[in-house]
Amino acid sequence: MIPNFKTIVCSESRSGREFHRAGWIIVEPFTIIENGYIEVDKGFITGVHKGRPEEKCIDHGPGVLMPPLVNTHLHLELSALKGCLPFDKGFKIWVKTLLEKRETLGQEKLIKAAQNSVQDLVKSGNLYIGDISTLGIIKSIIEDSALNGVCFHEFLGSDIPPFFVQKNDSVSFSVSGHAPHTSSPQLLKALKQCSKSNGLPFSIHVAESDDESEFIHDKKGPWADFLTLRGIDWSSWEIGSKSPIAYINDMGLLDPLTIAVHVLNASDRDLEILSQSKAKVCVCPRSNQNLHGKLSDIEKILKVGIEPALGTDSLASCDSLNIFDEMAFVQTHYPMLDPAIIFSMGTINGARALGIDHLTGTLAKGKRAQFLYRPLKAKNKKELFQRTLSNE
Ligand SMILES: [Zn+2]
Repeated sequence: MIPNFKTIVCSESRSGREFHRAGWIIVEPFTIIENGYIEVDKGFITGVHKGRPEEKCIDHGPGVLMPPLVNTHLHLELSALKGCLPFDKGFKIWVKTLLEKRETLGQEKLIKAAQNSVQDLVKSGNLYIGDISTLGIIKSIIEDSALNGVCFHEFLGSDIPPFFVQKNDSVSFSVSGHAPHTSSPQLLKALKQCSKSNGLPFSIHVAESDDESEFIHDKKGPWADFLTLRGIDWSSWEIGSKSPIAYINDMGLLDPLTIAVHVLNASDRDLEILSQSKAKVCVCPRSNQNLHGKLSDIEKILKVGIEPALGTDSLASCDSLNIFDEMAFVQTHYPMLDPAIIFSMGTINGARALGIDHLTGTLAKGKRAQFLYRPLKAKNKKELFQRTLSNE
């Protein structure tokens, strides 16, 4: 569902100060101004103040101005598979069906559906993304859109082709490894080395499924059979008697530029490893619920000092790519979480994970003047967050 709101993007080519007023401003999740205004010059925020400006201002109304949302992990190229895949037959069958259906659909349909998803993201205020593409067909779609963020070209298996990476202010290009149980350690190390040497984030799905944990720990199980069937030789991988998170840590993959996605099957020791490495974590609760029937322990993740970001994963495992929907789901399924923390997950934590927090994630001075206005009414800060997260 796309809530009732408007997106305001102030142009960098427009000089002269402008002022945007509203009943509420969520500057940062823990800094809320009641009855205030944002001062903008040349497309960037130059101040946020209480009260009304003396100069002429754009008065948006009694509702709330907030930063745009960040979807830290999604796969636009799988949008055409919405509603096509079985959730109830196990993860392995889901992956197998996904690969078969993606093949039969053809690139034209994948691209068309991805373009529609991009429009929905822009309309729903999700202006920043971390997109994962294995086929490499999404780059120009994102470049031609109003979306910003990081396009990760994803690799799996054991071949090590040449990689293309580029750091930009609008859309950066980096690489990602699919997962520890689908990619050789040589490939994963090469991908990490390439992204790190360019100061770019690296993304990897990890600790997502029971099959993955069994394979890495016991060197057998359904995933071992699946890999062998697909011709991937894993006999030299240094797996056994360890968790997927410990395995990628031993490989040197975890540092502040790595985004560990899912972190669903994680022990206390695994969370300690992630915390000590200062790696970023991105959880995808709706996708996890649909595919695995369980959820990450967000409270424990927070307790070890990790500030998790939110992703939706793809439309092959989730109903929408909208982080408003994901935050609403988190609010319902984690009632003990402070709503301000949930809002952080959908904004600043994602911006930090993608390395774009100097540009967005909050409405603080120096960030891009892009914000969302929602015409909701709230009597106090608690009600403000409840309404913002409820996606009403
Ligand atoms: Zn994913």
